[in-house]
This record gives sequence, structure tokens and C-alpha cells, in this order.
Amino acid sequence: MENNSITPQSVPYVGHIVPYYPEKPSYLEPAPFFVRVKKFLMTLLVAALVAGIMIGIGSKNQWNWLMYTGIGVFVLILAAGVFAAATARVGKCPYCHQEIGQNAETSLGSQDENELAECGICCNWMISNKGELRPFRREDMKPDQELKCKVMDQSVWPQECLVCGAPPVRYIELKNTKLNAGSLLIGRISVSWGTLKNAPYCAYHDDAVRLKIEDKTMYLVFKDFDVMKRYQHVNYHRLMTGQRL
Ligand SMILES: [Zn+2]
Ligand SMILES: [Zn+2]
Repeated sequence: MENNSITPQSVPYVGHIVPYYPEKPSYLEPAPFFVRVKKFLMTLLVAALVAGIMIGIGSKNQWNWLMYTGIGVFVLILAAGVFAAATARVGKCPYCHQEIGQNAETSLGSQDENELAECGICCNWMISNKGELRPFRREDMKPDQELKCKVMDQSVWPQECLVCGAPPVRYIELKNTKLNAGSLLIGRISVSWGTLKNAPYCAYHDDAVRLKIEDKTMYLVFKDFDVMKRYQHVNYHRLMTGQRL
């Protein structure tokens, strides 16, 4: 937190967005065979790469210890891959009911303990815990939790001040961390970026959200959970009803 910024928690909210929290959790199911194979092959690749480099350098310099360490690392990563494949689960998002957990972005496991999972379709956050998917709530926040939300195709802002919900009187260009101009031009992200770069604020508030780019993916980083939750709700609502809030 920077000290020149407002503290959104202390600002009363006067808008009309009431984020939806599904009452019922959804339950994880064993991942299909191809998902397990994919997860396993991905770790096999990483194991071979890391160990290959260590063994290669070791044998070139005749450092036996490095070669043995490389073999050890290979076995360890592979064991982790077997575990991940064996415990891999998929589940339906309790919000939009689409299946999640099939790709590397959202990894669900039967042994998860209160782990954050993000729906790649409606962008809502949830908690994966011992075979159950439930909505993520403010109480689930960890002290160092990064409130990072992937920018989706056609992501939109609420039509009100992000912080207090008053009618917006200005639209402020997002500040960013380590912005690489080239990344803005890649494919569909630039479409969402066009609609998102001016954040709606009233005359009193600003700087509630920043932009972050990691591995060519664009994220919004929020300062306050409620502000992020309203953003997620607005986009979920648009996805389900086609209407903007
Ligand atoms: Zn969803
Ligand atoms: Zn405001």
C-alpha cells in the first residue's frame, strides 16, 4: 500500500452493485484421463529440461555431484508430477457453472486446502478445499494477498466510481507496473485494454486499480477486495445476462 492513496475500505459505498455469492458449493470430480496425461507430460518436460541442463553441465566439467543432483532433481519433479496427475480434479464454477481445472491456469487437486482458484470464464474467485469449490469471501484474504484479476476478452468497468459507487465524473488512465508497450498490441488483450484503460471515478477518488502485465497476460491489480469483487460481479453479470451494470 502506498500512503498517498485513499483507503477504500473506509469509504462508504453508495452504488447499486450487490455482488452475488452462490450459496451452494460445487464438488470436484476426478479429472478426465487426458487432463491427467497433460499435467504429467508437462512436468516430465520441466523435469527433463532442468535435470538435462544440470547433467549436461556436470558431465562437461566432470562434476559428478552436479550430475547426481540433476538425477535427484529429475526424480523429485517427476514424483511431484505423478502426485499432481493422480490428485487432479475438475469442477464446475459455482457462479457460471462452466467446468474449470482442465488447463494449467487453474489447477484443482483433491488435496487442496483453502487454495485460491479463479474461473477463467466469469473471472470470479473461489476457494478449493478438500474436494469442494466455494466462493472466495473477504474473510479468505491472506495478509499479503494480491488482488489480481485477469483482463478478459470484453471486460468492462462498472458504470460508477470504482471506489464509492457515485456517478462517474471522470475517466482516468490506469497506472501500470512495468508496462511493456509491445504487450498492449497482442491480439484480443488489446481489445479489452481499449475498453478498460480509462477507469471511472467520482471527483474525490482515484488510483484504486493498477495494470500489470505478466507473461503477455494483462491483469488488473486492485487495492481493495470490495472494489475487485464489484468489478468481477459486473463482468459476471454481463456474461450471464448480456447487460452492463
Ligand atoms: Zn465462472
Ligand atoms: Zn468515488
